[in-house]
Amino acid sequence: MLASFTKRNVLQQLFQVCRCGSTSSTESCNTFDLVIVGGGIVGCATAREMLKRHPGLKMAIVEKENAIARHQTGHNSGVIHAGIYYKPGSLKAKLCVEGSKLVYDYLCKKDIPHKKVGKLIVAQNKEQAKRLDDLYSRGIENNVPDLQMVEKDCISKYEAKCLGERALWSPWTGIVDWALVCNHFAKDFEEMGGKIYVNYEVTGFTQMSQCNEKQELTPILINSKNKCIPAKYVLTCAGLHSDRLAVMTGCDVSPRIIPFRGEYMLLVEDKKHLCTTNIYPVPDPRFPFLGVHFTPKINGEIYLGPNAVLALSREGYRWCDINVKDCIEMIKFPGLYKFVFKYFIPGCKEMITSIFYPLAVRDLKKFIPEVTWRDVKRGPAGVRAQAMNSDGSLVDDFVFDSGKGAVGQRVIHCRNAPSPAATSSMAIGKYIADKLEKDFKF
Ligand SMILES: Cc1cc2nc3c(=O)[nH]c(=O)nc-3n(C[C@H](O)[C@H](O)[C@H](O)COP(=O)(O)OP(=O)(O)OC[C@H]3O[C@@H](n4cnc5c(N)ncnc54)[C@H](O)[C@@H]3O)c2cc1C
Repeated sequence: MLASFTKRNVLQQLFQVCRCGSTSSTESCNTFDLVIVGGGIVGCATAREMLKRHPGLKMAIVEKENAIARHQTGHNSGVIHAGIYYKPGSLKAKLCVEGSKLVYDYLCKKDIPHKKVGKLIVAQNKEQAKRLDDLYSRGIENNVPDLQMVEKDCISKYEAKCLGERALWSPWTGIVDWALVCNHFAKDFEEMGGKIYVNYEVTGFTQMSQCNEKQELTPILINSKNKCIPAKYVLTCAGLHSDRLAVMTGCDVSPRIIPFRGEYMLLVEDKKHLCTTNIYPVPDPRFPFLGVHFTPKINGEIYLGPNAVLALSREGYRWCDINVKDCIEMIKFPGLYKFVFKYFIPGCKEMITSIFYPLAVRDLKKFIPEVTWRDVKRGPAGVRAQAMNSDGSLVDDFVFDSGKGAVGQRVIHCRNAPSPAATSSMAIGKYIADKLEKDFKF
């Protein structure tokens, strides 16, 4: 399905554009109205939403891997979040709650396997139990449906072997395979006439300015090795490489993407019955991630994790995956030193438990004492695209940017689509589609 967009045939198309010299004639050539860079769930959901709204639009997705959903979308916990944790009023909170409703409707409509298994956030001491009250209030402010506080003696009604001081029950939390959902979005997009080009790694953007005196109508060339695609407008949703794509159109390097690997353990076969719902700790406000949790997967596995360790490659799913370019960029980024200094002790702890993974069982036993180190084995991993500012602070909400100059003005970058962007993807698609309509007058 990968069409051959060689420089020669692009030039032929562009000469046509030159001769015609008007918007309508540009449309009659092979120039795309909109190209989305990145075939993850954010790119595919947005592509689908745009073609649903504008059926005549000529659109493509370009993806550097040989298939879509190969990175964050294909390596995650598979949870449909209800939207409890996020700061009320933030885009993250709004898009999660809205996205979860949209996605449940979509899953039912398309008959995609999913389960509303619920989630218990379990406090292990009095201090954590107090923090549950704040989480409950946040959830209510965010319009999370049917949240319920569960006292100590009732926890076992929700999860038979789970212990704790108190818990928060969220019945609307579910599980699904996000890569499968992304593939459905992509299929919808293709059925509406969209094109998907895989093995297409974008290396830069240029403009064929010599072809047209009306600069704004001249297509942007989306360059890859030995090929390029012409487009009027571009959206990038490149996950772990989003900052690099932004820099290609003159944007600032900050926020930088710093990759954090999240490693999982798996529960062995004869202990899988111990976990039927998602069991999460009360998040520690000093740390950026949600903490190691129990998650039943839609394929029957039970995931324990993820931890959070600095990855030495943006796509480094194992310790031995080291990418020199990625490491040099990280070393040159001042924000990383400030971050490491701030989180030195917990960071070291995460590294030790990453190497000697059965040590992590100590934390899990607090929730289900029956789990021992013999019951776990090493599982898969995902890499989070964590956006970081130059002062070492982590970016918590969405970041959009557009570049400089004639090319940059016609490119929008989604630089940070923080977790749970899979849950929020359909709402993000709508949000970005509104933005594209406003900024590019679609
Ligand atoms: C460990 C982990 C657990 C998570 N758990 C959950 C969860 O339970 N629930 C939830 O809702 N969310 C979860 N998330 C978050 C969620 O997975 C991500 O927010 C979401 O998948 C992001 O999608 P994306 O499309 O932005 O990025 P990605 O899926 O990473 O897609 C970006 C795509 O861009 C492509 N690309 C990059 N550079 C280029 C280039 N130069 N040219 C062409 N293509 C390019 C990449 O190959 C990739 O396919 C988790 C994330 C991680 C890492």
